[in-house]
Amino acid sequence: MAATVKEGDNTEAEQIVNPWEVASSRGKIDYDKLIDKFGCQRLDKSLIDRVERLTGRPPHVFLRRSVFFAHRDLNDILDAYEKGDKFYLYTGRGPSSEALHLGHLIPFMFTKYLQDAFKVPLVIQLTDDEKCMWKNLTVEESQRLARENAKDIIACGFDISKTFIFSDFDYVGGAFYKNMVKVSKCVTYNKVVGIFGFTGEDHIGKISFPPVQAVPSFPSSFPHLFPGKDSLRCLIPCAIDQDPYFRMTRDVAPRLGYQKPALIESTFFPALQGETGKMSASDPNSAIYVTDSGKDIKNKINKYAFSGGQDSIENHRKYGANLEVDIPVKYLGFFLDDDAELEHIRTEYGAGRMLTGEVKKRLTEVLTDIVERHRRARAAVTDEMVDAFMAVRPLPNMFS
Ligand code: ATP
Ligand code: MG
Repeated sequence: MAATVKEGDNTEAEQIVNPWEVASSRGKIDYDKLIDKFGCQRLDKSLIDRVERLTGRPPHVFLRRSVFFAHRDLNDILDAYEKGDKFYLYTGRGPSSEALHLGHLIPFMFTKYLQDAFKVPLVIQLTDDEKCMWKNLTVEESQRLARENAKDIIACGFDISKTFIFSDFDYVGGAFYKNMVKVSKCVTYNKVVGIFGFTGEDHIGKISFPPVQAVPSFPSSFPHLFPGKDSLRCLIPCAIDQDPYFRMTRDVAPRLGYQKPALIESTFFPALQGETGKMSASDPNSAIYVTDSGKDIKNKINKYAFSGGQDSIENHRKYGANLEVDIPVKYLGFFLDDDAELEHIRTEYGAGRMLTGEVKKRLTEVLTDIVERHRRARAAVTDEMVDAFMAVRPLPNMFS
């Protein structure tokens, strides 16, 4: 287990966010503090308006509701795009479990929107090597999970003419490996310890892993996709816990003569129990899986979703719900597209005219619908489709 990256002083030590752990012992995760600590920028309204103007589409619900809330150099990517220079997208998944939960789907749903809106190519890295090392899975099991997860990813609707999915075990080598070695030579042991909190007890597989996740940020790692396009820019949609990898990447890039990747970063989809933690596979009761039935979803929401409603109907009618801590309302903020309906629920529930049970019922409908649609889409993904997405091939129409 890698050491957790604790913060500098005691007041901040109660919030831990790194690629392996997300926890806050003092209420909600403080995202403003994370922006300051990581040194990224807040994604403000003017940038969202710009995305809308440039793509000619309404901004995704995750942009409107600040689920994606931070960025690095997104303005530069948009400047270039405005002048006619395209970019490519890079995201990924560590295949640690058979089934994905809703938190895992967030970056993919958003990346699908970005691909459609900007009409750009996408590379998706499956870090089966990482999960083999961190989760103590066998090589074979990690590879099997990577393919299973690829089906869920494909079910999100990516365009095969613009998307390349690869597993590290199968793909790393050649130009990709050369870039890994170049990055490795620029990063000292002290540096990775500072960024990731590794200790002398961690095996060297972990210590040497960060370049594997770094180099898909560089177009020259994919010679079949981007030959002669070494200055093509890269935009990475991901959850904010992945920021350390790309801080390291951005630090190294100029020394190699490469562009720094830009990032667009999300908050975490909270655990059913509340916003002090993220929905996590380690705690099955915290999560709604894409394999859950309508009945499972209903039961989990009724039993576990933390409610801001009052303890008796009389008090609820009198004081209204505390929307700040209410998980059903928070979840609707992620997945209920209709702004007017969401506002109506917030007003009525906050004033005590609507009860927790009614809000939970609406959330159950919304999530069941998403999960059912996902299940149908996944059932239609064949092994041949997985092979086709993962084939090492050029993508001749990727910018059109
Ligand atoms: P485990 O509890 O076993 O660590 P997990 O649910 O945290 O599992 P991971 O495979 O560790 O899942 O997640 C990989 C990445 O997926 C995370 O580093 C994060 O970027 C993203 N992710 C996981 N859970 C969430 C979530 N609830 N909201 C947003 N992103 C998430
Ligand atoms: Mg995890």
